[in-house]
Amino acid sequence: MDIIGIDLGTTNSVATVYTNEGLKHISFDGDFLLPSIVNVSNDGVIVGIKAKNMAMIAQENTAISIKRLMGSDQKVTLNGKEFTPQEVSSLIIKKIKNTAEQEMGEKYNRCVVTVPAYFNENQRAATTQAVELAGLKVLRVINEPTAAAISYGANKDEDMLYGVYDLGGGTFDISIIENSKGLIEVVATSGDNYLGGDDFDKKLSQLIWQKSGFDIPLTQKLQIKLNQIAEKAKIDLSTQEEVIIDEKFFAKKDKEPLHLEVEIGREEFEELIREDIDRTVELLLSTLEDANYDIDDLEAIILTGGSSRIPFVTHTILEKTGKLPILIEDPDKSVSIGAILQGAIIEGIDTDSILVDITPYSLGISTLNESMGFELILSKIILKNTPVPVSKVSRYYAMRDYQEGFEIDIYQGENEKDLSENINIGNMLLEIKNPIKEGAIDVTFTLNQDGMLSVVGKEIHTDEIIKGEFRTKISKSSQHSNVNEMDILNEHDRAIMGKIDKLLESDILEEDKADLKALKAKYINAHSEEKATIEEEIIDTIFFLEDSH
Ligand code: AMP
Repeated sequence: MDIIGIDLGTTNSVATVYTNEGLKHISFDGDFLLPSIVNVSNDGVIVGIKAKNMAMIAQENTAISIKRLMGSDQKVTLNGKEFTPQEVSSLIIKKIKNTAEQEMGEKYNRCVVTVPAYFNENQRAATTQAVELAGLKVLRVINEPTAAAISYGANKDEDMLYGVYDLGGGTFDISIIENSKGLIEVVATSGDNYLGGDDFDKKLSQLIWQKSGFDIPLTQKLQIKLNQIAEKAKIDLSTQEEVIIDEKFFAKKDKEPLHLEVEIGREEFEELIREDIDRTVELLLSTLEDANYDIDDLEAIILTGGSSRIPFVTHTILEKTGKLPILIEDPDKSVSIGAILQGAIIEGIDTDSILVDITPYSLGISTLNESMGFELILSKIILKNTPVPVSKVSRYYAMRDYQEGFEIDIYQGENEKDLSENINIGNMLLEIKNPIKEGAIDVTFTLNQDGMLSVVGKEIHTDEIIKGEFRTKISKSSQHSNVNEMDILNEHDRAIMGKIDKLLESDILEEDKADLKALKAKYINAHSEEKATIEEEIIDTIFFLEDSH
């Protein structure tokens, strides 16, 4: 099977392939988690843990948490060149494809990629573009909690109703799933595209900074280092009651080193995230209500996503619902496993399972409402929680006689009365070939299994189909992107060496120069296993010298 299951995460990505011996997770620099971080230099592109290291010393050339920008028209500048979020993501996918091919000795042409259930049209379109730019065909786009449900439900025979609570690095999703005899049916879903572990890191880093007592400006560079320290402290607080942060030479003030020494207790951290976690449980309860179920109907709440390892998540769910959630086995791998299993289902390898997913939001167009003083309102065509694929038709009447076209503005969201509360996902002009006096058209919305929308109109008096170009917010320009020609490097020795050489040419102290030269020599002569440790040492030194310089 030439398919890769890809969990394209905000913080980390995971890829799984199907082999005769079973499922296999692709390994990146010795770990199945690939940090979703991209560094671009003149030498080429570095993705993963090495790019994460580079973030400390070359933040201007490094993209972190790019998933948060997917579907927007924001661009990032790396090494002086502008990239769309989908171009940056495509570099991550390219790294996955290359590594999988090297490791497995096979060619991979297709993939099942996952997105947060609550990702909108533009975000899904951007993800699809990213996959295609990386040279893979999208076999299917599936929702992350659905993928986790597939991996959870794959080997369970019993019928059950359960919730999948997915708290990741950048997004939160909740889905209510019904399993019966191989049928995995999503009955309701909801979430927040901007809530996850990254937010907890930010809050914790603010607390650490406050407690440090340093009175120096918090530069962007220090912020990146602080975020990494905060993330580590956060993870440690999942297993420890207290962490002691002790970072020697964290920064410099008046040529004197500043050591960061701060203690954080688990309860302090819990206070920081209490509001966020409460919100996730409220979303869980309202999603159940949407599906006309009660908390007592749920047989289990399954936790997935890295951030659900925080013990406070379990405590809060138990306290507010009376149900003890179950942490899915291998929460980091479950989404990618679900993706590849879905690939196997589509290929007919697994014939016992069927997946029915739904749309997490309503889709419709803006119309003028006479009874509301000619205000624009949202006229819904496909309702939230409708199983996909689906096609729905709605009829619209012309405002004027002999109207020559209908300009339709497409929205997704739930607020019918206040249009501005919904997301505008694009627009389209449906031209009428034979305008008449009181004309009307039927508009058909079709949502495919990937959650992607297509729209056509039909002139009622002639039955003629009218197609128009659906203009989404996603720029098509990246289709001719130059990322295709960019090399993904397996090593980043040259990037680090470049940094060292630049510093050696600058006017740092002679003793610092001597230290750097010694480190450089040590690195060049080291065996590959030792390189990682020396690399950390070098990065810390460069970081410190550049900062004080
Ligand atoms: P995901 O997007 O599912 O890969 O989740 C990534 C997020 O989970 C990041 O914000 C990580 O910092 C966070 N994370 C991973 N392990 C833990 C842990 N043991 N405790 C708290 N957060 C964690």
